Amino acid sequence: MSSHGEQEIRERTTTLIDQVGADAGQVEFRSAQWDAGLAMVQYPEGKGGLEAPPKLQSVVQDELRAAGVRYDSMVINPIGIGMGLPTVLTYGSDEIHDKHLKRIFTGEDIWCQMFSEPSHGSDVAGLASRAVRDGDEWIVNGQKVWTSLAHYSAYGMLLVRTDPDVPKHKGLSYFIVDMKSPGIEIRPLYQITGDAEFNEVFFNDVRIPHENLLGAVGDGWRVATTTLMNERVALGGSSAPRGSGTIAALTSLWNKRGPELPEPQHSIMRDRVSRLWIESEILRLTTIRARANATVGNPGPEGSVGKLASAELNQRIWNTTMDLLGPEGFLHEPGYPLDRSAGASSMSLSKSFLRSQANTIEGGTSDIMRNILGERVLGLPGDVRVDKAVPWNEIPSS
Ligand SMILES: Cc1cc2nc3c(=O)[nH]c(=O)nc-3n(C[C@H](O)[C@H](O)[C@H](O)COP(=O)(O)OP(=O)(O)OC[C@H]3O[C@@H](n4cnc5c(N)ncnc54)[C@H](O)[C@@H]3O)c2cc1C
Repeated sequence: MSSHGEQEIRERTTTLIDQVGADAGQVEFRSAQWDAGLAMVQYPEGKGGLEAPPKLQSVVQDELRAAGVRYDSMVINPIGIGMGLPTVLTYGSDEIHDKHLKRIFTGEDIWCQMFSEPSHGSDVAGLASRAVRDGDEWIVNGQKVWTSLAHYSAYGMLLVRTDPDVPKHKGLSYFIVDMKSPGIEIRPLYQITGDAEFNEVFFNDVRIPHENLLGAVGDGWRVATTTLMNERVALGGSSAPRGSGTIAALTSLWNKRGPELPEPQHSIMRDRVSRLWIESEILRLTTIRARANATVGNPGPEGSVGKLASAELNQRIWNTTMDLLGPEGFLHEPGYPLDRSAGASSMSLSKSFLRSQANTIEGGTSDIMRNILGERVLGLPGDVRVDKAVPWNEIPSS
């Protein structure tokens, strides 16, 4: 790793802002940010980074925020940037890097993740979609579900079974898929919020070039683990400024409604809001500490701490917000916009409450996070796994 320091990164960022302009368009600004090595400072030079310590990315973000640059990776291309970038960087060839990395960061190509299937969410390693080799191509058949943003995506990360005769974790392979390939059918699914954020994706004899394989044939579980570890950090690793994010919605509502509450509701609610503010601050500081200790490379199982804590805290904050709103919280906007909301800041309070129900499911449920932390961080006895050593095609299925 090179010896870039905080001051140098700060100066490089202000130079970037001076040269490109804080009000430049998304693709123009982020393209220049990538070329300057300030997209992911820990990435290699020439590939969006400077081989600097990962914690220095927050210096870039602070400077961008202060200058009024508002492009947020988690809004622009959450799956592409949160999970696609690190997976492609880790397992892709130089040609694949050149084709995809920068366009993922600029948001020119939206990406989706096609792991879950109707009977295989938590047990994703048991998935049934098949890919069969045909010369320089693979032919894919099967179905994915809950595929966020598939209806907007240029590319997808696909996990499929290439060998049904070996135990489930060993027979998987991982491909980059052009989402416009013939034979892919995408059907949006409506959520409780009224948005269609995710989809069913059907594969009917879809042909994927062999060169789109990430990792070796049969090594898909290892590649998928990289994606999943990064997903948990992307979902649970936000370190927005103190008092911002979800807790800001609650404190702002409290400031308006709190003074009008009669006793004892006022004291009880003040206690609940204060506790949640403190918990948010603890989580924020824990995330900053984790980032300061992060080394170059992909995160490990400890990334599940932030995912688990933020998902459950988020739900508690929105529950309290609904209690403070009272009957008004039952009012929702009409309509089913077939769209994806740009984030909590643009959603109504009641819709944000509904959306938060997914937090403890998406990216792995809270039960699965507890299993991972118990087994892989705390070293507790493992979950019961009777099918781990059995060839996949001998595992009973419904
Ligand atoms: C908003 C949203 C977006 C999503 N986006 C994507 C996406 O883009 N791509 C994608 O591939 N998937 C996506 N998913 C799917 C998500 O990863 C799965 O829903 C999740 O992993 C749970 O799987 P499941 O729904 O099949 O539930 P199941 O696995 O059937 O779980 C049902 C219940 O059993 C519990 N359970 C299961 N196994 C265990 C165990 N071993 N120990 C203890 N408890 C257990 C679970 O915690 C849960 O409470 C998304 C989901 C949501 C809600």
